[in-house]
Amino acid sequence: MSKGFFIDTTRCIACKACQVACKQWNRLPAEETVNRGDLQNPADFSSTTYKLVRMNEEMIDGKVNWLFFPDQCRHCLVPPCLLWAQNTQAIYQDTETGAVVYTAATQKLKADDIIGVCPYDVPRQGQDGLLAKCTMCNDRVKNGMAPACVKTCPTGTLNFGDLEAMQAMAADRLKQVQSVYPDALLVDADDVRVIFLTAFAPQMYHRYAAAFDAQYKQTR
Ligand code: SF4
Ligand code: SF4
Repeated sequence: MSKGFFIDTTRCIACKACQVACKQWNRLPAEETVNRGDLQNPADFSSTTYKLVRMNEEMIDGKVNWLFFPDQCRHCLVPPCLLWAQNTQAIYQDTETGAVVYTAATQKLKADDIIGVCPYDVPRQGQDGLLAKCTMCNDRVKNGMAPACVKTCPTGTLNFGDLEAMQAMAADRLKQVQSVYPDALLVDADDVRVIFLTAFAPQMYHRYAAAFDAQYKQTR
């Protein structure tokens, strides 16, 4: 059954449990970081960081707001990275779950091209030449388990299940949130398997938070 995520950023407390769980399940090493004067840590995705809680401070209606965005691959319904690669040995879409999966054969691809076509700036190349990103925990999902990040999230921010159920959950929650935050929206909901709900315009959370909506493309 085709799968999806619903990520409700209004519930995120930036505890980073998802970020750590992703590292643990995928056996990815921690990264040395530096104090850059803010709470963003590490600074960006890398070949060993597939899940990253982005933390942005924005002044809204005269108040400082912390905007949290637990970023990851959107597992696009029609993935530009896969279309560009034209190499199903390297990048393929799982026929059962819809996960976009990168293999060891990504070493043979032109990394800059693949990274460049991703509308969300997700894949990263490691020192070994491999391209890496969120796997949808396809190994767990195919064995009936939730992705590690979803399983760990303590607030209900991260949700996972059949794509249609996630789309319905997202639409229901949007109605609730819009009663408090009228600008709330579902980001690129018709184009991705990982649907984010944001209370404010997506680009206030991260430069690459939204991609397919024309109104946001113009500002990038
Ligand atoms: Fe590929 Fe980027 Fe879409 Fe993920 S978000 S499937 S890496 S194009
Ligand atoms: Fe990491 Fe798995 Fe969550 Fe993707 S689905 S961000 S690989 S824990």
